[in-house]
Amino acid sequence: MTHAPIPFDNSYARLGTGFFTRTLPTPVAQPGRVALNRPLAARLGLDADWLDSDEGLAMLAGNAAPPGAEPIAQAYAGHQFGGLSPQLGDGRAVLLGEVVAPDGARFDIQLKGSGPTPFSRRGDGRAWLGPVLREYAVSEFMAAAGVPTTRALAAVTTGEAVWRETALPGAVLTRVASSHIRVGTFEFFAIRGDIDRLRALTDHVIARHYPDADGALGMLRGVIARQAETVAHWMALGFIHGVMNTDNMAVSGETIDYGPCAFMDAYHPDTVFSSIDRSGRYAWAEQPQVAVWNLAQLASCLIPLMGEDTDRAVTAATEAVHGFPALYQAAWMRRFGAKLGLADPHPDDRALVERLLTLMANAGADFTRTFRGLVTGEAAAEFANPAPFLDWQRDWQARGPDLAVAAAANPVRIPRNHRIQAAIDAGVTGDFAPFHRLVAAVTAPFDDRAEWRDLSAPPASSEAVRVTYCGT
Ligand code: AMP
Ligand code: MG
Repeated sequence: MTHAPIPFDNSYARLGTGFFTRTLPTPVAQPGRVALNRPLAARLGLDADWLDSDEGLAMLAGNAAPPGAEPIAQAYAGHQFGGLSPQLGDGRAVLLGEVVAPDGARFDIQLKGSGPTPFSRRGDGRAWLGPVLREYAVSEFMAAAGVPTTRALAAVTTGEAVWRETALPGAVLTRVASSHIRVGTFEFFAIRGDIDRLRALTDHVIARHYPDADGALGMLRGVIARQAETVAHWMALGFIHGVMNTDNMAVSGETIDYGPCAFMDAYHPDTVFSSIDRSGRYAWAEQPQVAVWNLAQLASCLIPLMGEDTDRAVTAATEAVHGFPALYQAAWMRRFGAKLGLADPHPDDRALVERLLTLMANAGADFTRTFRGLVTGEAAAEFANPAPFLDWQRDWQARGPDLAVAAAANPVRIPRNHRIQAAIDAGVTGDFAPFHRLVAAVTAPFDDRAEWRDLSAPPASSEAVRVTYCGT
């Protein structure tokens, strides 16, 4: 090889000891290609043909680290369902390194499912095909829908079985993120009282994600503002993250860690899918409050960096966290306003949105189809008793909606759970055609093509997926 196929520049690895453990991916028996995201490779300035070569495949499977890679497992802590876990870390992922795209943006290239690391505890460090396909399809849909998110560069099979109550095909996802630094990364150092590393991490995050921020408080405000936008996006798509633990909240504002996540079919604000979320802590309607809770953890980590006067630091950090609701409400109104075709919503429009959501909840109307139906004039069909909806529709029309605005805000299709499940079921048998078709369709989410009509349909009751599982 005359030149490195990937121009790595590993700023996180330069932070030095204590932030990570150098860990090579564990080679797998028989790498097999499933998906390569050529548009994303181009966006990163990577050579997609090289990624598709045998050498590229070896890298994507974790069998060979190319020149310039410095594989590391990152340390982090986290509050999981409200309880502190002081030591989590990359237990089934390895960061190969970072690349700087042609436009100057920096991205992590991470293998997920690449074998055990010092942070694996009792886990095997592996992923099975199901969660890999789910994360690929959902994260690429989110990107296409304009939601800040990690991306999927590739999915490969390992030729090895992964044991999850039963033997399942192993797989590795190549995840791309503007960074994998989490609220839990800050907690890791804060709970150890390691102020020097906490400060180095903060400086790193400011340089990388918030270059205009003035110190830790400015960074905190930046994270809060981005999370407000991201969660408003989720709400407007009927998305439920499912495990909003602080280790699964990226300080970049990107949606990260697609585990038991799902989109609602029939709308109800209390919807929960995750098998492990028995109390509904991370239900759809709870997500903004959970974001505040998580951001309060970040705020408390940063207080030691906010000056000598601790009382003033606490007051400033608290005020920053208390700023979330107003930012979130404004973002929510912009997103749901656009869904109603109101490019410049008025505060009074909130009542109009809420009236519709109440009608939808009472009727169990399909979230995606009802909003898209506002564009096509078919929304009434989502209501068994359409009269209250038709009253609402008259008031809405009197407000003068712009249907082009609504068409750009309401996807024709989402990666519905039962379709993801069908793609996984076929993938397990070696048939990836349904997965590729689903990815093609959900990465053109506003494109109403006849050939994809079936993917817009809600599940028949026999097809409905009501419970989702963590990727482990
Ligand atoms: P999650 O809830 O999926 O975000 O993961 C929480 C923690 O468990 C993280 O530290 C993961 O790295 C770790 N983990 C999850 N699955 C595995 C696995 N199969 N092997 C090792 N560690 C894992
Ligand atoms: Mg996680």
